[in-house]
Amino acid sequence: MKIIVCIKQVPDTAEVRINPETNTLIRDGVPSIINPYDLHALEAGLQIRELVGGSVTALTMGPPQAEDALREALSLGIDHAVLLTDRAFSGADTWATAFALSKAIENLGADIILCGKQAIDGDTAQVGPEIAAFLNIPHIAYIRKIDSVQENGIVVQRLMDDGYDLMESSLPVLLTVVKEINVPRMPSLKGKIAAKKAEIQHMTASDIQAGDDDIGLKGSPTQVKNIFAPETTKDRKMIDGTNEEKIAALLEELKALRCL
Ligand SMILES: Cc1cc2nc3c(=O)[nH]c(=O)nc-3n(C[C@H](O)[C@H](O)[C@H](O)COP(=O)(O)OP(=O)(O)OC[C@H]3O[C@@H](n4cnc5c(N)ncnc54)[C@H](O)[C@@H]3O)c2cc1C
Repeated sequence: MKIIVCIKQVPDTAEVRINPETNTLIRDGVPSIINPYDLHALEAGLQIRELVGGSVTALTMGPPQAEDALREALSLGIDHAVLLTDRAFSGADTWATAFALSKAIENLGADIILCGKQAIDGDTAQVGPEIAAFLNIPHIAYIRKIDSVQENGIVVQRLMDDGYDLMESSLPVLLTVVKEINVPRMPSLKGKIAAKKAEIQHMTASDIQAGDDDIGLKGSPTQVKNIFAPETTKDRKMIDGTNEEKIAALLEELKALRCL
């Protein structure tokens, strides 16, 4: 079974500050981490390998320093790491990012592709489903459990507000996972040492045969018109009473504000 896990290196949002003049993130001095949901995707990949055999590859598109995220993934025990990196990819929106990742996946070959449900910085949750669309394969989002994996198919539980859906898919398939799926393992000392020496495969735009118009800024249909922090007001209203009274009063307030 060939498993590819897409991981994104993100700024640790607990440490991020906003420049009040430009409303952009101040990234200087902010540590980078693997997107937390992607750690769950890596764990899911490793557990599938333990169950049915095969290999787990971590794939990321990013600048050269995204190698750090791949080394961390290697320290967890994955087999292979691929960095998709090229100046031609810069300025990519989710569409162009997913296009480039799908081309790399086509190149590497995969039966199961795992992504996090969303990245904690960009937060769109678009890249996983878009990769599946570019590859023309099925995808199931919000996976909270993998019930069974066989050569010709997979059975999974998709998290819903009021429970879960039991879903079955043929392979290849792309799954996006939620944190309820597992508890990510910690790297072992042996894993950390091996990861330091491991070779990371680099792929460029020409390796994935991507044309200039399909990647980077040129391949990105999204146009950012304006970035601003929403205005906050200091209006506050305290509601007293028992919990039941507070809930009833809150519902009345929300109805009056036409929020319900
Ligand atoms: C016009 C525009 C220009 C941009 N220019 C840049 C730029 O120059 N540099 C830049 O860094 N960002 C840029 N971005 C942001 C970039 O497009 C997004 O960070 C990226 O597409 C991922 O989107 P997201 O964070 O919403 O991920 P989501 O869709 O929320 O991520 C879901 C899952 O997809 C996978 N995934 C997401 N991104 C990657 C990745 N890079 N590699 C592997 N797996 C991934 C992970 O499994 C993740 O959990 C730009 C965005 C726009 C709109």
